[in-house]
Amino acid sequence: MNGADKLGHLSSSTALDVELQAKVSALGRGSRHDVCASTSSSRSVSGFRRIGAVSFPGVCQAFTPDGRCVSLFKTLYTNACTHSCYYCPNGAMSRGCGKYSFTPEELAKIVLKLYKENYIEGLFLSSGVGRDEERTMEEMIEAVELLRGKYGFEGYVHLKILPGVGRDHIRRAMELADRVSINIETVSSSTMGEISPSKDYLTDILRRQSFIREEMRRTPLPAGHTTQMIVGGAEERDLDIFRRAVYEYRKMGVRRVYYSAFTSIEGTPFEGRESVPLQREKRHYQLDWLHRVYGFSEKELFCVFDDEGYLPAEDPKKRLAECLLDGPVDPNTASFKELLTVPGIGPVSAGRIIRIRKRRRIESPEELSELGVALKRAWPYLLLRGWRQSTLRWWGS
Ligand code: SF4
Repeated sequence: MNGADKLGHLSSSTALDVELQAKVSALGRGSRHDVCASTSSSRSVSGFRRIGAVSFPGVCQAFTPDGRCVSLFKTLYTNACTHSCYYCPNGAMSRGCGKYSFTPEELAKIVLKLYKENYIEGLFLSSGVGRDEERTMEEMIEAVELLRGKYGFEGYVHLKILPGVGRDHIRRAMELADRVSINIETVSSSTMGEISPSKDYLTDILRRQSFIREEMRRTPLPAGHTTQMIVGGAEERDLDIFRRAVYEYRKMGVRRVYYSAFTSIEGTPFEGRESVPLQREKRHYQLDWLHRVYGFSEKELFCVFDDEGYLPAEDPKKRLAECLLDGPVDPNTASFKELLTVPGIGPVSAGRIIRIRKRRRIESPEELSELGVALKRAWPYLLLRGWRQSTLRWWGS
């Protein structure tokens, strides 16, 4: 049974009354801007399935620290919010669905029920700030305290930290959760002013992130802390988004930066503005992967941007190969880094190539394929037994 089937089944067969079902549905849909998947995912381009890995309001998939893919009950605590972020359907200005809030006991009981019935394995709890961020954060914490204390819940919990909340709340949230996150949304104070004028970038967001980073020394989180940016909300360049992401990894110690393409929301000043194509969001995930997993430096990756600071329409790794390689590489002699630069070769296949060539020469494309190389992408960049594909685009023939 997939997530949609499970919650559909839940709606029709459990003891949740009609009012509570409406609440679960509205607050699940309201959380669609918060990405909880580990990577960008394939999604349809209409309706609530457009953002995040949400297969149905209320359920998303995420990876735990030990690498398991688990189903999480993904929801807002409340969809009421005094802020008016121009990219968010929960803002005070937007004309969304009605306003709903859980109570701590209500939320704890729903999570427990779904958990016991094997619908979910954990909770991803985000929220609007309600009337007051401190009060709402307190109630979110209380719900998790009930789960952990009164009900003995040991499942995975990801808690959003609301902008502007006090350090005591952050500390308590970190004692209870496996992962916490605060969305930085954009790259600077001035761009924050363009998309979310009531939030202070430095005080409400970056200062809270610094608290999390400092508290991590005292209370290390099993799944670390993460953040999220809206791509194209303030019309910032891709290069600015990338630089901010690098800063987040290096200075703030985040485990992951997630990206979410801007979508136009009814009732906001950006209503009618063109939504950003998911392809652009995907390019950020690819670039992030090259930096975070493959270890290419910020400096090395600058060359993938065009003169105006935007990412190419194609996979950034192609552009990287064209910048960093002097010509096609011979897998029998190339360094690990050169192999890693070739599109279609990752750290695992590069490692296998290095190991196998200590014993014998690699003679054929088929051998590379067996070592995990995505040959269709890699072949234009390789030279094997003095022979290479003739369709190279940037080296002379
Ligand atoms: S603070 Fe969060 S919930 Fe409120 S409008 Fe902004 S993004 Fe939406």
